[in-house]
Amino acid sequence: MSAYAVPTTLSPSRVESFLSCPLAFRFRSLDGLPDPPTIATLRGTMVHRALELFHADTSRPRDPNWLDGCVTTMLEEFREHPDTLYLGLSGDSYDDLSRQCRRLAAGVFEMEDPDQVHPVGLELRIEAPVGPVVLRGIIDRLERGPDGSLVITDYKTGRAPGSGYERKALGGVHLYALMCHLTMDERPSEVRLMYVSSKETITDRPSDQSLRFMTQRVSAVHGAIEQSCQSGEFRTRKSALCRFCAYQPWCPEFGGDPTRAAAEAPDALSGPTS
Ligand code: SF4
Repeated sequence: MSAYAVPTTLSPSRVESFLSCPLAFRFRSLDGLPDPPTIATLRGTMVHRALELFHADTSRPRDPNWLDGCVTTMLEEFREHPDTLYLGLSGDSYDDLSRQCRRLAAGVFEMEDPDQVHPVGLELRIEAPVGPVVLRGIIDRLERGPDGSLVITDYKTGRAPGSGYERKALGGVHLYALMCHLTMDERPSEVRLMYVSSKETITDRPSDQSLRFMTQRVSAVHGAIEQSCQSGEFRTRKSALCRFCAYQPWCPEFGGDPTRAAAEAPDALSGPTS
């Protein structure tokens, strides 16, 4: 008998999460342990929301004044957001985060002409069967490029990858290209990562080969998850990401005991609002 039921749905971020560290994937996705927000994740969510509002109305000029208004609307929405309350942000600390969001969102003006963006969908939910699993996710921005073809854009508020790591960073958007191809019967012509902090854009062009590779990759990752679910063995993968991992206290790499996580983590990681 399997130690865990094998998931029948995955998101692109869960695929990446298993590849980054199978044990953290187990804690988060199979044990259902809380995954508490950080300032960085909240900042990312807030900037995404501001840019969603910004591009939602294409009938008006998308200029700095309009962006300012969208950021202000977003900041009101997030003032009492559970993640804001969890992190105890109010007064000066919320003002500080607000300034960071304003600066990051404004980065788009140095990266593209927003009036030339023609969205087909913003924060678009998409679902597609890929091999043995159903992939579900949310595309930040799906648009028609100048030649009418589909372009997928993913906003990033963190640091751009160093030289040689761009391909790895593009894995998620290539999965979205595969999902578009399967559900819309149309292969996107371009996938883009917009790093609004450093104002760098990384692009790639999906091909028949990349779609085939992504299909095989999903099947391979799902097969590895299935094996781990059956055996109950989820390996650790120590990396620079460990310093952001909420599950360190139960990770054997840091002297923790994973068998105690289910009993201890829900209380330890629950915020002041729960
Ligand atoms: S601390 Fe690192 S190795 Fe341990 S569970 Fe988290 S990501 Fe994995």
